[in-house]
Amino acid sequence: MFAPAHDELNVFQSAEARFEIACQKLGLEDDLYRYLKYPSKEVTVYIPVSRDSGQLEVFIGYRVLHSTVRGPGKGGIRFAPDVSIDEVRALAAWMTWKCALVDIPFGGAKGGVICDPSKLSKHELERITRRYTAELSEWFGPERDVPAPDIGTNAQTMAWVMDTYAMHTRQATTAVVTGKPLALGGSEGRTEATGRGVMMCCDKALAKLKMKREGCRVIVQGFGNVGSQAATLLHQAGYKIIGVADIHGGLYNENGFDIPRLVDWVYTQKKPLPEFSAGGTKMSAPDVLFNPCDILIPAATENQITSQNAHRVDCKILCEGANGPTTSHADPIIDKKGIFIIPDILGNAGGVTVSYFEWVQDRQGFFWREDEVNGRLQHVMERSFDNVIRYAETHGVNNRIAAYIVAVDRVAQALRLRGIYA
Ligand code: NAD
Repeated sequence: MFAPAHDELNVFQSAEARFEIACQKLGLEDDLYRYLKYPSKEVTVYIPVSRDSGQLEVFIGYRVLHSTVRGPGKGGIRFAPDVSIDEVRALAAWMTWKCALVDIPFGGAKGGVICDPSKLSKHELERITRRYTAELSEWFGPERDVPAPDIGTNAQTMAWVMDTYAMHTRQATTAVVTGKPLALGGSEGRTEATGRGVMMCCDKALAKLKMKREGCRVIVQGFGNVGSQAATLLHQAGYKIIGVADIHGGLYNENGFDIPRLVDWVYTQKKPLPEFSAGGTKMSAPDVLFNPCDILIPAATENQITSQNAHRVDCKILCEGANGPTTSHADPIIDKKGIFIIPDILGNAGGVTVSYFEWVQDRQGFFWREDEVNGRLQHVMERSFDNVIRYAETHGVNNRIAAYIVAVDRVAQALRLRGIYA
């Protein structure tokens, strides 16, 4: 019944492999296991878009609703050339487990469009977003499925989603999407939330391992929303960021980078990260990952740490900002090295937690101060971190499997109460 995953780089199989272990350890009933193993719904949309040249192009998009057992679907929309249905399925399942782990009342969902945003104009991106949303307008809704940003999408994209949904339903429903601009019912602290959650987990891990922030050497792979915000907050807090990388390449500086200058370089001056003028040795993005450090934060994309390279990871703490950066085949190698892992469904859960706060605020029509948002986020992240560690220690499993067990158990409890309409 519990089939092992075969294809290491298939992220859905990677997600499934951990779910299988959690089910075995929990002794989950067969019926619940069978129910939770599959997504609830999937859709493929073919999106006709008029290019700026006047030519019509058809893009392929997906939305997967993995589970609504604990509440409406929740999950980002990814715009990237390598989006696939298996990837979206895996990301949707991870959302189910992540929302359950941090105990917020959502299920899991994810969407994506196969496109390269760097080769599309703003107007073309707007047309893709609007047509994708229009195709899914009956699927989305504050009580059905609530999208958010992910790779290649941002607050502007979410504003277009909200507006298109409003045009179709003839009412302005801000709670249909999160990660919106502040002026449209967005939440204070949402842009920084995933990076802030990463920092909160690092702080907790340091306390657990009796290490200090000052001089703690950190490498961050990915310098988009999650990576740049995490690097900024960690730098402010006294951590030393000695390695950075994005799609263009990597940089290493054992003395630590001036992160505000690097952010200015990449985001204001719009210059390539590897050309940063204020110091650092250039190296390839994958090579940056394998320098010695105290905390390694993969915050770019999936499958960065595999069975082929995990032996080169040289850190004390692996805090996953990205979804699925470590394959299930690499797990035993990381374990054997005694690395303290903060798994993705915990490490990057700050984003969906503040998305939940945004949804609550939109529904109340009453907005919180940034310190209230951050304080509530801290409470959720610390409580979730403590739960995972307690479970790992009492049941003799690693932190990743502990996180899955806590999450699967919560969804299973809800499912038992609801019953299966079969
Ligand atoms: P983003 O598009 O803002 O940034 C992605 C970054 O990764 C960019 O700097 C890009 O250059 C870099 N990158 C891409 N491929 C790379 C590679 N092969 N090597 C090195 N760098 C590479 O995306 P994001 O929102 O920061 O998301 C990053 C990861 O975090 C994804 O796995 C996403 O699913 C996950 N995540 C994001 C959020 C969120 O709130 N944005 C929340 C939870 C999880």
